[in-house]
Amino acid sequence: MKRTIRDADVAGKRVLLRADLNVPLKDGDVADDTRIRAVLPTITYLRDRGAMVAVCSHLGRPSGPDPTYSLTPVARRLADLLGCTVPLMPDCVGEPVLRAVKAMNREDVILLENTRFHPEEEANDTAFAKALAAGFDVFVNDAFGAAHRAHASTEGVAHLLPAYAGFLLEKELAVLGRLLAKPERPFLAIVGGAKVSSKIGVLRALAERVDVLAVGGGMGSTFLAANGTQVGRSLREADREGEARAIAAALAKRGGELVLPVDVVVAPSADAAGAASARTVGVDAIPADLMVVDVGPRTLEHYQRAIAKAKTILWNGPVGVFEVPRFAAGTRRVAELLARANATTVVGGGESVQAVEELGLTDRMTHVSTGGGASLELIEGKTLPGVAAIPDL
Ligand code: ADP
Ligand code: MG
Repeated sequence: MKRTIRDADVAGKRVLLRADLNVPLKDGDVADDTRIRAVLPTITYLRDRGAMVAVCSHLGRPSGPDPTYSLTPVARRLADLLGCTVPLMPDCVGEPVLRAVKAMNREDVILLENTRFHPEEEANDTAFAKALAAGFDVFVNDAFGAAHRAHASTEGVAHLLPAYAGFLLEKELAVLGRLLAKPERPFLAIVGGAKVSSKIGVLRALAERVDVLAVGGGMGSTFLAANGTQVGRSLREADREGEARAIAAALAKRGGELVLPVDVVVAPSADAAGAASARTVGVDAIPADLMVVDVGPRTLEHYQRAIAKAKTILWNGPVGVFEVPRFAAGTRRVAELLARANATTVVGGGESVQAVEELGLTDRMTHVSTGGGASLELIEGKTLPGVAAIPDL
């Protein structure tokens, strides 16, 4: 158990809060404020207890100071959501920031400019971490989405100030931790997405834990090919078929069940141009010149049965090329089935979370993780440096 802000005395203290405000922008405004909303409980708690809060975050992947990646739109949205002014500092370190931090009053909130304007951030440079910590009494990390990176603002600074977890970090760790340590069974994992290679660690870890593993999406084709199925021009990683067989064997050894597609939507290409001539075929009849772009209705019935039986369900990765509406049916159906499921439902991953949000089903899941890469690393059993740096209770 990590110590959290509930264990800290923050009254009258200057708090440096690392949040994950790495939100998508569009036309100079915040396109999706999910990540900003997710940190509000922590900010509100700190303010209510008389803290002065300076929030810091990275945004995008700038190489040096770059107005395209300024947190200006984030400051505006944060101010709207909190109903108070949130001045944006010109930088995250240096004299002007020090002065502003010193001048803060209880309940004040300021936002520091993008930490990645300094290459020292990703290098986890000690001098830079010291500059970040300067003027603060307490460090709070609520940036679960960045916790798998050992950067100055996520890891380095936690060794320089008394460090505590925020509520979002705490919740992510609790939900994902429980899922892996003592899931209510049957435990079903639905894994999709593009490639087996990007999720080998996750698939291996799940094969040791779940009762049922359903594999769809692009990686489903690699699993099918590993069984000798002809998958035409599907996205397929021939060099990963051995790995797929090993994962299937590990699951079978524990008495687990592997659910592979029995029918699929095929098209000449995985884009809008291919959509016009898309059709559904059994996996034993995939034409040599077409590619798999979604799972078919009979496969979705198998998913439905597995979902109905499960008490715990983890979903990562869309089961089709959901960005193209004609190929989104499988992913949409999985999201809808999970929303209605009588089970603990957890969604993790970049695109799968996006799909759930687009469908407006986020609130119908037990938990939708805000950290794509971080949640996958946690499932793999890796230690997250940003978490490890926070002392245990
Ligand atoms: P997540 O971010 O949820 O973990 P991934 O990054 O692993 O998911 O994969 C997401 C991508 O997988 C999506 O952009 C989707 O278009 C792609 N995808 C899903 N099914 C297929 C398929 N059959 N063929 C090619 N790409 C696919
Ligand atoms: Mg992704």
